Amino acid sequence: MTDTLSAPAAPSFEGSAPASAPIAQERHIVTAIPGPASQALHERRLAVVSAGVGTALPVYIDRAHDAIVVDVDGNHFIDLGGGIGVMGVGHTNDAVVAAVQEQVAKVTHTLFTVTPYEPYVRVAELLVQHTPGDHAKKVVLVNSGAEALENAVKIARKHTGRAGVAVLDHGYHGRTNLTMAMNFKAMPYNLGFGPFASNIYHAPSSYPFHDGLSGAEAAKRTISYLEKRVGAADLACLVAEPVQGEGGFIVPAEGYLVALQEWCTANGVVFIADEVQSGVARTGAYYASEHFGLVPDMITTAKGIAGGMVLAGVVGRAEIMDSSHAGGLGGTYGGNPVACAAAIAVFEQIEQRDLLGQAKRIESVLKPLLLELQAKHPSIGDVRGMGAMLAIEFVDPETHEPDAAIVSRAVAAAAQQGVLLLSAGTYGNVIRFLPALTISDELLREAVGVLDAALSA
Ligand SMILES: *Cc1c(COP(=O)(O)O)cnc(C)c1O
Repeated sequence: MTDTLSAPAAPSFEGSAPASAPIAQERHIVTAIPGPASQALHERRLAVVSAGVGTALPVYIDRAHDAIVVDVDGNHFIDLGGGIGVMGVGHTNDAVVAAVQEQVAKVTHTLFTVTPYEPYVRVAELLVQHTPGDHAKKVVLVNSGAEALENAVKIARKHTGRAGVAVLDHGYHGRTNLTMAMNFKAMPYNLGFGPFASNIYHAPSSYPFHDGLSGAEAAKRTISYLEKRVGAADLACLVAEPVQGEGGFIVPAEGYLVALQEWCTANGVVFIADEVQSGVARTGAYYASEHFGLVPDMITTAKGIAGGMVLAGVVGRAEIMDSSHAGGLGGTYGGNPVACAAAIAVFEQIEQRDLLGQAKRIESVLKPLLLELQAKHPSIGDVRGMGAMLAIEFVDPETHEPDAAIVSRAVAAAAQQGVLLLSAGTYGNVIRFLPALTISDELLREAVGVLDAALSA
């Protein structure tokens, strides 16, 4: 690892090392989990941080590189969550760090709508280039996935002059008022936080493992529901995640999404692919829409786009994206120059290190390991996903009833052994894998071995 960081004085945690110390790509546990320094930080946190901000694991991270995160007690964890799919290029990717360092010393903020700068334009060019379809496209950059969804819906409404927004069961779109209304799951996202935005219509989706429907059957059910319940003429847009993220990495049945897009196109409904989780090389394509033959009218992107810096965007058909009057879109920090510099480095890394190929490699290594795991543990009902976006769903082998308890136990036990796993799923019964696209085969094998032992215990 070449590291150009000049470290500030190290904070006085037990396991803390200067930021310039190399981080071995190894799992290494030296204390109980959480360790004493994490426990002390957690007490400070509980006194001052809102209880509404949850904690999956009270292990405080000091530094990280590639697929390994190191906590304040010096424990090295294999990170299979990547901050929920954000760290596709790996933690502290050298090129991203260098790009951020260079930009932060040049200019950190002017507000693009006041006095613009080149990196925003470059990111827009890259998004236009790497999203499906050869049509004219335009972009707006914002700060978070939820904000991207807010803008996509806003633009679709302005373009169509219609109010209705269709979303799918098991979908997740964010924590702002509009996006809460678009989420499927009330707990923990929505409960008690209303009133919610109106004109949002939740339609049945495709969940092959549970509904057994073909793509055509599921699409017919979705479309007929929307036609009866709303009427296409009142719909501005339909928002769908090509692979549903929080819902449990649900890959819809073949032909489902294309049928929805065709119906949208025939009825003047803007088809929006929410690729906040599935985008930016995660599934082995720049955007997962490609796998399904989709050419969305708009795509929302965030998470993996800027190597952990704060950036999100909407890219869409030029005539739709231009439907807002000047000044209608934007925000103080949207398309911040430092975040844009990081995103440009991420796109360069995708090319230089063949991260699309790496995502496919991860699928070819991890999926067979997960299928082996399924053969050993009958509670694993389904192994699914694409590229480096894979998941296993736990059910009662006889009844197919979701089994969330086994997931919480396995995730907790794996953390004790130095493997960070994320749960997911409408029923909390899914373990999802979102590793750095650069993770080695060895670390993947080792992590699945730890999970195997956790499930056997
Ligand atoms: C995470 C996520 C969002 C929300 O993104 P934030 O940056 O957390 O606001 C929206 N849609 C999908 C599919 C996501 O996975």
